Amino acid sequence: MITDEAAIKPAKSNSAIPELSPETLQKFDVSGPRYTSYPTADRFVEAFTEESYKQTLAQRRVGGLTLPLSIYVHIPFCESLCFFCACNKIVTKHHERSAEYLRYLSREIDLHIEHLGAGQTISQLHLGGGSPTFFSDNELSELMAMIRRSFVLEANGEYSIEVDPRTVDENRLAHLASLGFNRLSFGVQDFDPEVQKAVHRIQPAEQVFSLVEAARRLKFDSVNVDLIYGLPKQTPESFTQTLNQIVELKPERIALYAYAHLPERFKPQRRIDSYELPAASAKIAMLSNAIKTFLDAGYVYVGMDHFALPTDALAIAKRQGRLHRNFQGYSTQPDCDLISLGVSAIGRVGATYSQNAKTIEEYYDLLNQGRFPVVRGLALSRDDLVRRAVIMAIMCQGALQYESIELAYMIDFKNYFASELEALKELEGSGMVVLEDTGLQVTDFGWFFVRAVAMLFDRYLQTDRNRARFSKII
Ligand code: SF4
Repeated sequence: MITDEAAIKPAKSNSAIPELSPETLQKFDVSGPRYTSYPTADRFVEAFTEESYKQTLAQRRVGGLTLPLSIYVHIPFCESLCFFCACNKIVTKHHERSAEYLRYLSREIDLHIEHLGAGQTISQLHLGGGSPTFFSDNELSELMAMIRRSFVLEANGEYSIEVDPRTVDENRLAHLASLGFNRLSFGVQDFDPEVQKAVHRIQPAEQVFSLVEAARRLKFDSVNVDLIYGLPKQTPESFTQTLNQIVELKPERIALYAYAHLPERFKPQRRIDSYELPAASAKIAMLSNAIKTFLDAGYVYVGMDHFALPTDALAIAKRQGRLHRNFQGYSTQPDCDLISLGVSAIGRVGATYSQNAKTIEEYYDLLNQGRFPVVRGLALSRDDLVRRAVIMAIMCQGALQYESIELAYMIDFKNYFASELEALKELEGSGMVVLEDTGLQVTDFGWFFVRAVAMLFDRYLQTDRNRARFSKII
């Protein structure tokens, strides 16, 4: 993949990271995409139809591509509503809805096999949501059996699942291990009881500690915890307490996200009292404390909200310049075609992106007609492909060698990106990048703001006056 060729060396390790003071973070805190794809999903169009998707799958088949696939399954159900939620989910106590959903997932898998051919290899599988653990053990077994009947799971693949700590115990984790999952991701957000009450998600710290210990006994390769700062009732002091508990818990990976309060877009957030939200300066202090706490505890800053222990595969991949990025964030697996199943799921096959219907009614309706439930997407132009290669090299390796892009796309890099290189000089002045004659290198300092560097190469943002829909930069 071009992203690999484009990398010269990864951004340097933690060794010389300058102090990330609240003032510095404030200064560079601008809105921007997370670049789990380029172009970003808001650029998808309805002109990309089910027919376009079928052609894409046919091309993969005709091309005789045997590269492994990645599979994402979206399970939209949750038992109760978290007030900060911005995900596509369905809150219900009716567990019988899972059986119906499974039947439709099965149809969607069958359609793919029809168009891709049987026996395709999978090197990466991720179950996300919603809450995948809304499914019972039997339903998860059935889902995995369906996948194994249709695909071949590689022995050393990454098989991960998002886990709502309120829905599992050690027995359920043991069941997940027996199904072949080797990575768990727990939604934690914050351990403070007052914050948990304010966001309507009560899960005592002891519960999470005992689950992580169980995951270790069960020999999962890696445990991730998701944290959110900027939630109601959070203060820098209360969040420091959570950070200390997380360091004690020592998960292999930590994802730290900023809460973006957009009640006009996300209905659940209207239940949050905006007076209880921390001020911008308090959010910046929480972020600054978090970065310092994790680095002091020996974590490596992998990039874009993610930290990992130096022994974790993600940190190793970063050191070796082998990081990749997809809709689930950073990955150690080489870029591969991503087949996404379930309501609202986004896939990436060849030079296209596609997205399924966002409502369950439409998703079921299209499958009832024997059709793929794809309702929008994008066929990438040549310019999109060039820029995707550049942006992913910056986001994953923090470095770019112009020649590799020139050879892959037959362009003169300095001519093609003349205005971007000019704009980069300002970031060079801020110490974020070093511009060399043959390439560019993101500095250790710039790595914390890496998407600001990537954003300069985003053609759509260059003409976009409406960046506010994106979250803040870190
Ligand atoms: S945050 Fe997760 S568990 Fe909570 S409502 Fe949203 S999708 Fe469901």
